[in-house]
Amino acid sequence: MSWITPELKQLSAVVAATLADDGTLIEANAGFLRVARLPAQQPANASVARAFVQPTFAALLRVVPDADGEIHHGLLTMGDPMAATRTLRGRVWHRDRVLQVLAEYDIDELERLNAKMLELNRDYAEAQFELAQTNIKLQQREAEILALTLTDSLTGVGNHRRLEQELATEIKRFERTGEPLSAFMADLDHFKSINDSYGHDVGDKVLAAFGALLRAQTRATEVAARIGGEEFVVLLPHTRLKEALLTAERIRAALQALSIASMPIRPTASFGVATMAKAESRDAFMRRVDTALYAAKRAGRNCVVAG
Ligand code: GH3
Ligand code: MG
Ligand code: MG
Repeated sequence: MSWITPELKQLSAVVAATLADDGTLIEANAGFLRVARLPAQQPANASVARAFVQPTFAALLRVVPDADGEIHHGLLTMGDPMAATRTLRGRVWHRDRVLQVLAEYDIDELERLNAKMLELNRDYAEAQFELAQTNIKLQQREAEILALTLTDSLTGVGNHRRLEQELATEIKRFERTGEPLSAFMADLDHFKSINDSYGHDVGDKVLAAFGALLRAQTRATEVAARIGGEEFVVLLPHTRLKEALLTAERIRAALQALSIASMPIRPTASFGVATMAKAESRDAFMRRVDTALYAAKRAGRNCVVAG
């Protein structure tokens, strides 16, 4: 009776085979045929010696002792070195000029490999996460730097470049949707004499205070920008002339109510307001705003005029 029982013969997770010491296969179970990459039906007297990759069949035979017994205990790499090999853990015995092979997949090794894979995956995931975090920080820095290049440092409102960018975007939107677009320009009154009377530093304080006021009194969708020494423009998307006039008037009154340290008088500004007309160019629109401001100056300053 063969030592390879019917159950063992069926198993493919375990390798069991008997070979003659010339390499001829005498008997094999499903696992051996699979691992050795042999067809289920072996031609008689076919040598399967080449299926032993490490140690080789010849190397196994070299340790055949005088007496029968175990000739290998440990890892056994089998298969086709040109195609695929498997490393198993097993034993080989020599008995009566035949070799008996019994091996199984090296579960410990598989688990170690699995653990290593998990560890690598975790390291990879951590590296990915750190990379993503760094990217977010870089994007934030980039956004901060971009914001700085579009901001007026003294007043905290946008600069001329910011206004031109937003103006172009808003004009496109106006042309596309027909939703109203208004703007006002404000110019501080008698600013030269404020500088002359109280000093340039006080003048700067007035500019900074007006900038803070504009930021506080405008909505997120509205854009305030300093376009010259003491000249500011505020863009008011989705706003008709009437509301734009109210906004300008509210800001004019708030400025007049400000008290600035070392300055006994209250600062004031003049305002020119306009709403973009259909098919109007950027320049024509801004000229109307500017003309309205000039009219406010001529009308005595500290007032709002519609263009
Ligand atoms: P008006 O009411 O007609 O606007 O008179 P104004 O004196 O305000 O107008 P003008 O254009 O004659 O003078 C503007 C002054 O603004 C002149 C300039 O010295 C001053 N100015 C420009 N930029 C700055 C700045 O950054 N800081 C300070 N303190 N003054 C500035
Ligand atoms: Mg002025
Ligand atoms: Mg001016």
